[in-house]
Amino acid sequence: MPWLVIIVSVFVLWVASLCKVLNTYCSPFKATFLSNAGGALRRRDVLLLLAHPDDESMFFTPTLNYLTSRGHNIHILCMSTGNADGMGNIRKQELFQASAVLKVPLHQIKILDHPDFQDGFGKVWNYNLLARILEEEMQTIVVDLIITFDDYGVSGHCNHRDLNQGVRKLLHDSSRDIEAWELVSTNTLRKYSGPVDVWLSILYAVHYPKGEMHCLLNEHPRKSYVAMAQHMSQWVWYRKLFVTFSSFTYVNTLRKINK
Ligand SMILES: [Zn+2]
Repeated sequence: MPWLVIIVSVFVLWVASLCKVLNTYCSPFKATFLSNAGGALRRRDVLLLLAHPDDESMFFTPTLNYLTSRGHNIHILCMSTGNADGMGNIRKQELFQASAVLKVPLHQIKILDHPDFQDGFGKVWNYNLLARILEEEMQTIVVDLIITFDDYGVSGHCNHRDLNQGVRKLLHDSSRDIEAWELVSTNTLRKYSGPVDVWLSILYAVHYPKGEMHCLLNEHPRKSYVAMAQHMSQWVWYRKLFVTFSSFTYVNTLRKINK
C-alpha cells in the first residue's frame, strides 16, 4: 500500500510539473532572458557552441525554443562531427535535420572537422586554439552572445567541459563586448527527474543575483523528442528514455559567465 501512495504521488507531481511547463505563458513566472528593463525584447544574434551533433537536441531545446519563439537569430557552431564511431558524415546530416525541426536556419550551422577537435573521451581539446577559432568565427558573423555548456558539461563529457574553458579564455583575451552564458549542470537525481525539476530550477534561479541566471521552460517539450529522433544513428532505446526522463528536455538554467 505505501508503494501505491508513492507511485500515485510521483505521477501527480509529474503531471502537475508538466502542466507548469506547458502553461508557461499563463504562469506568473516569466523568463526575462534577453529582455530589457521594460520587458521588451531586443533581437540578438546568438551563437550556440556545441561539441557534438545531438547536443542541441538532448540538452539545449528549452533554450532554442525560447530564443526562436522570440525572434532571436541563432547560429550553431559544432566543434566536431561526432566521429568517435566513424559516423561523422551521417551525424553531420542529422544535425541539419534536427536544426530544421528546431527552426535554426540551416545556412547558420557550421560543423568543424578539425584534427585537434575530434569526438571522444580522453581527447583533450586545446582551449587556447578553441578561443582563437571563436574569435575568427566572430569576424565572419555577428554575435552578441555565446551559449555553451558549464564546466561540468551536463554529462561530464570532457569535450563539453573543454568548450566552457575555451569560451572563458575568449572572454579573458578578447576586446569584444560579448556576453557568454553556460548551461547549468545538475546532480543525477535532478537530471533524471523530468519536468519535476522545474520547481527546483525556478527556486535556484530566483535566489541567484538578479540578471545573472535565467530559468527557461520548454514550451514545446515534444520538439526535443522529434529533434532527437532526427539523429537516427543515435536514436537507441536508452536515448529515448533519456529524452523522456531528462530534466533538460523540460528546462534549461543559464548562468552568465563573468569576464
Ligand atoms: Zn556531446
